[in-house]
Amino acid sequence: MRVIHDIHGGIHPPERKALSQPGTLQSLALPPLLVLPLRQHLGVPARPVVAVGDAVLGGQMLAEANGVMSVPIHAPTSGTVRAIESRPIAHASGLEDICIELETDGQDQWVVLEGMLDWRDREPTMLAEQIRSAGIAGMGGAGFPTAVKLTPGPQRPIELLLINGTECEPYITADDTLMQCYADQLIEGAMILAHILGADSTLIGIEDNKPEAIACVQAAVVKANASIEIASFPTKYPSGGEKQVIEILTGVQVPSGGIPADIGIVCLNPGTAVAAREAIVEGKPLTHRIVTLTGEALSQPCNTLACLGTPIDHLLQEAGWAAEVRQRVIHGGPMMGFAVSNLDAPVTKITNCVLAPTQSELPLPAEPKPCIRCGHCAEACPASLLPQQLYWYARAKDQEQLTTHRLFDCIECGACAYVCPSHIPLVQYYRAAKGQIRDSEQERKRSDNSRERFEARESRLAEEAAAREAKRAARKAAAQQQATSGGVDPVQAAIERAKAKKAQQGSPV
Ligand code: SF4
Ligand code: SF4
Repeated sequence: MRVIHDIHGGIHPPERKALSQPGTLQSLALPPLLVLPLRQHLGVPARPVVAVGDAVLGGQMLAEANGVMSVPIHAPTSGTVRAIESRPIAHASGLEDICIELETDGQDQWVVLEGMLDWRDREPTMLAEQIRSAGIAGMGGAGFPTAVKLTPGPQRPIELLLINGTECEPYITADDTLMQCYADQLIEGAMILAHILGADSTLIGIEDNKPEAIACVQAAVVKANASIEIASFPTKYPSGGEKQVIEILTGVQVPSGGIPADIGIVCLNPGTAVAAREAIVEGKPLTHRIVTLTGEALSQPCNTLACLGTPIDHLLQEAGWAAEVRQRVIHGGPMMGFAVSNLDAPVTKITNCVLAPTQSELPLPAEPKPCIRCGHCAEACPASLLPQQLYWYARAKDQEQLTTHRLFDCIECGACAYVCPSHIPLVQYYRAAKGQIRDSEQERKRSDNSRERFEARESRLAEEAAAREAKRAARKAAAQQQATSGGVDPVQAAIERAKAKKAQQGSPV
């Protein structure tokens, strides 16, 4: 029996997960237009390989990976490319980004897919590359390119593959539904990922508020006769943070500034495991994902398997949205999500939930008041940080102190802000401070690079001048040597020859 460890802090907000009826998938109408951002993952945007006017099939690549920290984008159905230009996207910044707009034709015709049933006999590096080609990025929310996680390098041998089925944020039931509806695929996906990583063991961690998911996954493990352990643990927010779930299930802490692979662990989302199986066994790229549509402003909250690129507004209408005045729509959950400023923004690989709450259900944040130094935030922080101090340093823009106080260990879970009696939007301060520090670092790197370039140029010019001076000195030394050894000075000889010629030309014939 695995020992379950507790983490520091954490909170118990109302779960409200039953609202979206986890465990069943509702099919919704295909939208007439899909909007596919070139960046749906952490890293470099993909590069389009289609042009406006092209007819495409489902599963066809629309944009290729642009380097290691990038993944391609594929068409979720057949249709015609109508535009490649800026469109609103679901992002906290509210900014637009380049998207491929695909008009669907309702035929859903697909390219021929070729899978690898013999994946056990295939080279891990080749399988990891196949996962990259299928456009898979972490589906838990961060969107980190999965192939990069699967190739941590020989200096980081992986002992444990951890499938993180915690899904601790209120309202969201996408992973719960996936674990119930795709348990067999999840187990095969986990076996494929463990094979790629060369992991000694595989563990699936699920919070104890998902008994149906636990039962389904357990049955699938038995059915597949797989050597996979399932561990359930008490529900607490935010147990699903990567570092938090690792500590809960292994008792080991990922070092500050480090990654799980540093301690021999790779942690992946259940949706990522299912997508990896589809990529390998069926040859199918990532084109759909489960999205929770929830909140009391919807008359039919549900989970649905949505095409990537589906406009959020389309999903809300399909789920019976009755918009209130000053209606908020949140991408993600109430703790870590952000308000969507334009409902034309589409579902991407990281969209696990669209939340449309009524005002009485989830009131707007109250006016912030001054910090009363109560310390509740520090008690709630799962990363054992000092949120109050981080807040003061963020306000003072004291980057040195923010770094010393491990700002970058903050997972932006919002537990501190949730318990703050002064309603201070603490996470907003931390996000802004992180952005400023990253900008300063980039500026420092840029100025370091220009200084290095300037110094390299100065050094090259000095070397060239020294070489010229050395040549001149060598010529002078050679001439002097000749003069002192009784020879004729070549310069003097040339002058004499010129004089003689002139005299010759001037004399009468
Ligand atoms: S919980 Fe809020 S009021 Fe209390 S110390 Fe933290 S920031 Fe200040
Ligand atoms: S948002 Fe950051 S500082 Fe606040 S509780 Fe979460 S990890 Fe701690």
